[in-house]
Amino acid sequence: MTHTPRKRFGQNFLHDHNIIYHILSSLQANPDQHWVEIGPGMGALTEPLLNMGLRLDIVELDRDLVVLLKDKFKQQDNLQIFSADALKFDFSGLVADKEKLRIIGNLPYNISTPLMFHLLNNASCIEDMHFMLQKEVVDRICAAPGSKKYGRLSVMMQYYCATEHLFDVPPESFDPAPKVMSAIVRLVPHQQPPVQVNDIRMLNRVVVQAFSQRRKTLRNSLKKLIEEEAILALNIDPTLRAEVLSLADFAKLSNLLVAENLL
Ligand code: SAH
Repeated sequence: MTHTPRKRFGQNFLHDHNIIYHILSSLQANPDQHWVEIGPGMGALTEPLLNMGLRLDIVELDRDLVVLLKDKFKQQDNLQIFSADALKFDFSGLVADKEKLRIIGNLPYNISTPLMFHLLNNASCIEDMHFMLQKEVVDRICAAPGSKKYGRLSVMMQYYCATEHLFDVPPESFDPAPKVMSAIVRLVPHQQPPVQVNDIRMLNRVVVQAFSQRRKTLRNSLKKLIEEEAILALNIDPTLRAEVLSLADFAKLSNLLVAENLL
């Protein structure tokens, strides 16, 4: 069966066998694990995963591909195929026993950020996640304070997970080739949050505000939320810019605002 790639579903199918092998070998998958693949497409990663004998659930939006996948893998009893939108899918419902989910996906770039946050709402049932993303997004996820790429995505993702850029994947590894470089990222949800955050929505609000004008000092960018003296009292220099603040600093700012709002 053939399938014409659909742009609106972000379809860029992996066809470079070296890259597929490289991805698979960095996963350290084994048969007693429960894997979930998001956006299996025509099965470039699905097939080698199934061959490892592990339990696999796949979630695919494109109904034509679901038909193709059902046909291709009809002999497999370790596979469940879900015809669904991953953004709305209840991943926690897949957990049958205590075994946490290992998630993998070569994701459509337009949904990658909301999808990661959707998954992180259920972080307690996830062992780890490996995603193919636009390299630019992987760089932002993994950026450290002080880097130009450090921003909201870095702070929020690093609150939830340990992040690691594994390797880059060039456009010609896909059919059709995307315009940009891709990369594989490993995200491992923290067992315990690295810092105490009393209200995650407030952390997000402070981070969005602080980075809304990156070149401004905190004193200015956070003016509407917090007094300069209050920033100083947290041992944070109000003349700094958001891009040098650690996750711990953002947590202190947001916890103060939560405490103040309670009064
Ligand atoms: N994993 C395959 C396909 C990658 S292309 C490979 O590496 O070759 C991205 C895949 O995600 C496509 O199959 C596309 O149909 C699917 N997809 C797009 N949006 C989706 C969504 N919201 N939920 C689930 N799958 C989606």
